[in-house]
Amino acid sequence: MHKNVIRSLLSVVLVLPHIVIAAETEADRWNLQDLYVSSAEWDKDALKLQTQLKEISTCNGHLGDSVQRFKSCMDLSTDTMKRYARLASYASQFHDQDTGATAGLDLNQRSDILGSKLEEATSFFRPEILSLGQNKVKAYLSKDKSLAIYAHPLEDILRGASHTLDKKGEELVATFGMATNTASAVYSTLANSDMPWPKVKLSDGQEVTIDQSAYTKYRSSNNRADRKLVFDAFWGKWKEFERTYGVTFYEMLKKDAVYAKVKNYPDSLTQALDANKLPRAVYDTLIEQTQANLPTLHRYFKLRAKMLGLQDMGYQDIYPPLVSSSLKFPLAMGTELMLASVKPLGDDYVKAMTKATTERWMDVYPRPKKRSGAYMNGVAYDVHPYLLLNHNDDYESVSTLAHEWGHAMHSYLANKNQPFVTADYPIFTAEIASTTNEVFLLDHMLKIAKTDDERLLYLGSALENLRGTYFRQAMFADFERTVHAQVDKGESLTGEALTKIYGDILKRYHGDKDGVVKINDLYATEWAYIPHFYNRFYVFQYATSIAAGSMFADEILKGKPGAKDKYLNILKAGGSVYPYELVKSAGVDMATPAPYLAVFARMNKIMDEIEAIQSKRK
Ligand SMILES: [Zn+2]
Repeated sequence: MHKNVIRSLLSVVLVLPHIVIAAETEADRWNLQDLYVSSAEWDKDALKLQTQLKEISTCNGHLGDSVQRFKSCMDLSTDTMKRYARLASYASQFHDQDTGATAGLDLNQRSDILGSKLEEATSFFRPEILSLGQNKVKAYLSKDKSLAIYAHPLEDILRGASHTLDKKGEELVATFGMATNTASAVYSTLANSDMPWPKVKLSDGQEVTIDQSAYTKYRSSNNRADRKLVFDAFWGKWKEFERTYGVTFYEMLKKDAVYAKVKNYPDSLTQALDANKLPRAVYDTLIEQTQANLPTLHRYFKLRAKMLGLQDMGYQDIYPPLVSSSLKFPLAMGTELMLASVKPLGDDYVKAMTKATTERWMDVYPRPKKRSGAYMNGVAYDVHPYLLLNHNDDYESVSTLAHEWGHAMHSYLANKNQPFVTADYPIFTAEIASTTNEVFLLDHMLKIAKTDDERLLYLGSALENLRGTYFRQAMFADFERTVHAQVDKGESLTGEALTKIYGDILKRYHGDKDGVVKINDLYATEWAYIPHFYNRFYVFQYATSIAAGSMFADEILKGKPGAKDKYLNILKAGGSVYPYELVKSAGVDMATPAPYLAVFARMNKIMDEIEAIQSKRK
């Protein structure tokens, strides 16, 4: 229960479109008054939290006094965390709706300070529960049945006993923790602020500075020469700093190796997976299956080359959309399509979602200074989830809508069926809820599509998604496993060596040797640019989720008996069960090939359909 109070925002990165949207109305904005009717009410609740933090300090050293004391302290800390989650939700959303406003910035900073204070004030729980030990905690649980809601979180703490040092050791580790953030801090400062980005002149005469956001915009340009120009300039710049990024990344890898060692883990991957009790076989099976099924990815690239009319596809050709379309999907229409698509999940789900879409949970349209991208925030346990979108009426916006509402319904169901302490769910299951709904959307769109052009748009979008969310993330996971293992063993790594390792993996995944996608060596500095690598062994969960989601959606759509209810039980379980076991209990074992094979089958089926349309046209 003492992991991060605020679950990470479940977001997808979108490029902000330059489209003029019809004037928004109040109904298109989220209603933050559901959280606090005014800033003054927020202040009042923040004050209450401060008082509770003082009370919590009296629990320090007294959890073992009696079962009554234990329970009152657990209840108090839980209530404080719940209060903080609501305060933080309000503050971050208040800020995100207008990042230029000082009031939001101020509120957000105050919320961050409260968060640190809360963390500090409750930091004794974990070591103290560990020192109470298994037997005493078990005795408490059997003495007072109302403690049952804490059984799983307590077990989660107790299972860490063999990786916990004595008091002095833990204090030392915690103290050093304040000094081990240098690598990612330097990375982020250099990558986001200090890089001297290059300028290029595009084919239309426009001169642009190729910074990170310009890169994401122009890499999907329809003009091939422009794409090459942008790639050469952008990756050339990273190449100039290869040595420096090599140093920051190597330092980060070393830090992880050291933490694994002092905490008694065989290596950093095992330690990272243990945070959610995920078996090593999940990670290894993902990579093994992906490597064995690269021909599916290569088939996709060959199809892409054909659709874009390219003879010699290069890495700079992977971003332009497969199918361009002028079809418009205003929010009301998108919502209607999404609601129709989730019918396979049953009446209760549809009814709850239908009602929720009318209750101002969403901030829908782009505005100047509004935060970009899309996310769902479901931490306000007693209130409801919130969704930030930047809807621009294209099909991708509908797909994002379905994705984020998949998250929102997950939080809604978990919050409704679990007490606060076990409602929060880890990323391993989070992305299952969103990707399953994306599959439902595609299935529905294909059923109602009137023309082949329309069908191609939906199929193309789903295919792009599978490349980016499954194969690309699995490739990153492969790279992470390789470089962490090297440093765990005590070997050194330079920027040049990292480029070589990344380049080899990149070429293998893209079929460079067979001429599927030619990889220019300059572009192999991409590793230096991926911010997720500073959050070790995280991205593989996008790939595992989409694999699980594909399998669940397939089974539900086929009408396999019990499949729907088993799936819904995952959502309702929130964080009350370890995620691997939870998913397995619904019939999908992520340590076996089956779910990965489902994702390849899905991708091949989509390509079959595209090719069938194409051959009809000849
Ligand atoms: Zn998501």
